[in-house]
Amino acid sequence: MSLIVRQFPCLSDNYGYLICDEQSGRTACIDTPDAGAIMAALDAAGWKLDLILNTHWHADHAGGNAELQKATGATIVGPAEVRRIAPLDRVVEDGDVVELGETRLQVIACGGHTLGHIAYFDAADRIAFVGDTLFALGCGRLFEGKPAQMWASLQRLAALPEETAVYCAHEYTASNARFALSVDSEPALVRRSEEVFAARARGEPTVPTTIGLERATNPFLRAPLLAPDASSPAEAFARIRAAKDSFRG
Ligand code: ZN
Ligand code: FE
Repeated sequence: MSLIVRQFPCLSDNYGYLICDEQSGRTACIDTPDAGAIMAALDAAGWKLDLILNTHWHADHAGGNAELQKATGATIVGPAEVRRIAPLDRVVEDGDVVELGETRLQVIACGGHTLGHIAYFDAADRIAFVGDTLFALGCGRLFEGKPAQMWASLQRLAALPEETAVYCAHEYTASNARFALSVDSEPALVRRSEEVFAARARGEPTVPTTIGLERATNPFLRAPLLAPDASSPAEAFARIRAAKDSFRG
């Protein structure tokens, strides 16, 4: 592995991430939920921040851009929508590559939670930062996009190599598991949910997950199997998403 990932909880349920390209020492953070927490993590690691990589414009992802840039001089990279609330130096789109030393991060458009949401994928190390699009046993709410867009976005992420480590932006897994168990009795999901509840009871993170694990147990990726009478896979996804939105577990 040539990309080092440091993960730390911040705000109420976000994860902050620092990534460091081992060969060059070049360092980035994924999103800026809390500038102070990111600065503390940089100090603890002894790293200097070069890049800020945003996934989408929400305040718990880009709200710390200005403060962190002021403190570190880092260059801010992200989708154009970030400019709604925060400074942004370089706009990236689907298919673009962000270089961090020797590490190449592919930009994957995955709109739906917000229209311009993107993910960053390091193919060499099989690591993906997916923001609020794909969660462990869940997916982001559709604040801006339609179900068909989100379904297509989730399919793109699900098509990544199954061993890919998936770093999502929130620790929502236990509540996602409660919903998943209400719509799916798949044995692998039941087993995984028990592990998730136990890990959270011990105060341990359930992130990262993997693409393979999500394909096998995430009810949103399994939507066509769970709503077989739906007119299309996207319609099946829409039904599961609507059920989650009204779920009171
Ligand atoms: Zn968000
Ligand atoms: Fe968020």
